[in-house]
Amino acid sequence: MDIVLKNGILLDPILKNKKRTDIAIKNGLIHSIGKTNSTQEVDCSGYFLFPSLFDLHTHLREPGFETSETMETGLAAAAHGGYGTVCAMPNSLPVNDSPVITKYIKYRAKEIDKCNVYPIGAISEGLSGKSLSDMYSLKDAGVIAYSDDGFPVENALLLKKAMKIAKSIDMPLFLHEEDKNLSENGVMRAGEIALRLGLTGIPSSAESSMIARDLEIVRETGARVHFCHISCARSIQLIREAKKAGLPVSCEVTPNHLALSDEDIRRYDANAKVNPPLPSKSDRELLVAALADGTIDLVATDHAPHTADMKAAAIEEAPFGISGIETALPLLYTKLVKPGIIDFYELLYRMSIAPAEIAGIEPDLIKKGKPANITVFDPTEKYAITEEFFMSKGKNSPLIGKSLEGAVKATIFKGKLSYGNL
Ligand SMILES: [Zn+2]
Repeated sequence: MDIVLKNGILLDPILKNKKRTDIAIKNGLIHSIGKTNSTQEVDCSGYFLFPSLFDLHTHLREPGFETSETMETGLAAAAHGGYGTVCAMPNSLPVNDSPVITKYIKYRAKEIDKCNVYPIGAISEGLSGKSLSDMYSLKDAGVIAYSDDGFPVENALLLKKAMKIAKSIDMPLFLHEEDKNLSENGVMRAGEIALRLGLTGIPSSAESSMIARDLEIVRETGARVHFCHISCARSIQLIREAKKAGLPVSCEVTPNHLALSDEDIRRYDANAKVNPPLPSKSDRELLVAALADGTIDLVATDHAPHTADMKAAAIEEAPFGISGIETALPLLYTKLVKPGIIDFYELLYRMSIAPAEIAGIEPDLIKKGKPANITVFDPTEKYAITEEFFMSKGKNSPLIGKSLEGAVKATIFKGKLSYGNL
């Protein structure tokens, strides 16, 4: 036996039940579940054990933007967040619009061996929005979806062509929905607080109008479309209606949009500048309700690390994005699970099983014979978030200085510790 996790509380996000048990790991696999005796045991009393999380939306920044993140630091951060799998968005430099880059990302992931990495290929060449990438050869190289994330696909005809190809090879498109004319120069959600701070607002219609347009194209093509990081009431309503009509659509929300609102932007803090912007308080409540009722399928981090220098710029100039993969689980545990708004099984399901399904990947399950990809979580630990908390190069988080409850103690990837010590 390599190791036995002794006396932990095993949570099953599918059956939504728990049991106190031992998990024995051998040769990277789950060898047995149940009482075992071994000299190599680790006491997990009081800790929750569950399948490692799956992030459908991660910016690893490598190749090209290694000052913000490398795959080494990004995957260390993912493991620290309790993740065993991430899907890498293609907005690197060069963009992942060719099999060479897809293969490079897969090669680096294997070399680092801390987390499964599934690359996402670009919809358009160089994210230019002008001509399509070679979607077929990207699929052959191993991408699990296509996205121009960071940008909308403004040209509706180009998007329709992409949908037709995606449909023909049974691949999904992940869409960043934003009308750039409506959102231009905005830094936060339009509304009372933006007015009070004197900052240019981004109206919700910048997002919802593009979703409305693209749902019409889905209706014609039948392509599978996943809407990234939705953030407002009208988007929820449109997607709810589309699902009711049987369209093959799904969507995600980020932990920050579930737990924070524009009311958290009290000063000119670029660390809270994110695209789409943090929602109004009432939209935040609707996002939580939509996650609970299944209109929103899953939680994805949109982990977007930036250097301190970039975020130190005036809020108008600073780039959008929050370094969020390490705070995702404790933030939602603190803000949604502890107060009884969402049950922990449901949250874990939305952070592990549901995203794997959208990606078409078999989810990690804690079952005999499966790879030992397990997160060990202490539900009682309380701590303040500081810059030192982050293993990511990106310390750009509006949570710095805030207190959270619930901590990832260790993450086990293929039977070895990818984070923590036990
Ligand atoms: Zn995006």
